[in-house]
Amino acid sequence: MIQLNGLTKRYGATLAVDDLSFTVRPGLVTGFLGPNGAGKSTTMRMILGLDLPTSGTATVLGRAHHELPHPLRAVGSLLEAGAAHPRRTAYKHLLYLAQTNRLPASRVDEVLGLVGLADAAGRRAGEFSLGMGQRLGIAAALLGDPPVLLLDEPVNGLDPEGVLWIRTLIRGWAAEGRTVLLSSHLMSEMALTADRLVVIGKGRLIAEAEIGEFTKEF
Ligand code: ADP
Ligand code: ADP
Repeated sequence: MIQLNGLTKRYGATLAVDDLSFTVRPGLVTGFLGPNGAGKSTTMRMILGLDLPTSGTATVLGRAHHELPHPLRAVGSLLEAGAAHPRRTAYKHLLYLAQTNRLPASRVDEVLGLVGLADAAGRRAGEFSLGMGQRLGIAAALLGDPPVLLLDEPVNGLDPEGVLWIRTLIRGWAAEGRTVLLSSHLMSEMALTADRLVVIGKGRLIAEAEIGEFTKEF
């Protein structure tokens, strides 16, 4: 579960996130919808402890990110674990992350299998296509088998097959009882993937409801 309470982030004169409060529940895909610049990435970065709020709080499983004893076991994201050194193999990249997070090396083979990269384990990340890079990012996010997943625009740049694949994966995580927050600027993507929708604009909450409340109008 993710809880935001009056979350606010100011960059100089820009109010990127403005007094945002909402709860993301387990067992559902919660879509986080807003145009570019609305404050979605900034919000996710604060949930992940990559950026500090100006005021307010963001908690995962009842704690601020820096208070989680094993962050990678609590929350997985593409933002945090995404970038692999181009000369490092997929396997080495994941093994490094596993070791620095006290996870067993056996998890590396498991997550490579989960994302369909078992055969590419020995290849360098720099040789990966965009889609393979995205799969590697997801593998990293899954390393700690986290109950909470944050996905910032995960289908950006993927081909139709990749989009379908990730959509199925996301729906599966929620069905397993995980908490999933999925950001996108596309309502069409939300209509196909999300159960619930949180809509923001200019850093502020605009609407929050079951997806059916939004789609029945169309
Ligand atoms: P979204 O993810 O919805 O596209 P962002 O969270 O990236 O929105 O950006 C929200 C606002 O905050 C934008 O006006 C953006 O220009 C600004 N912003 C984001 N990051 C920074 C930063 N590091 N420094 C200054 N302004 C930023
Ligand atoms: P899996 O889904 O394969 O069980 P987990 O990430 O839940 O993956 O656990 C992987 C392994 O890490 C388990 O064998 C577990 O015993 C071990 N483990 C669990 N908690 C800790 C911990 N705090 N420190 C080190 N190892 C742990």
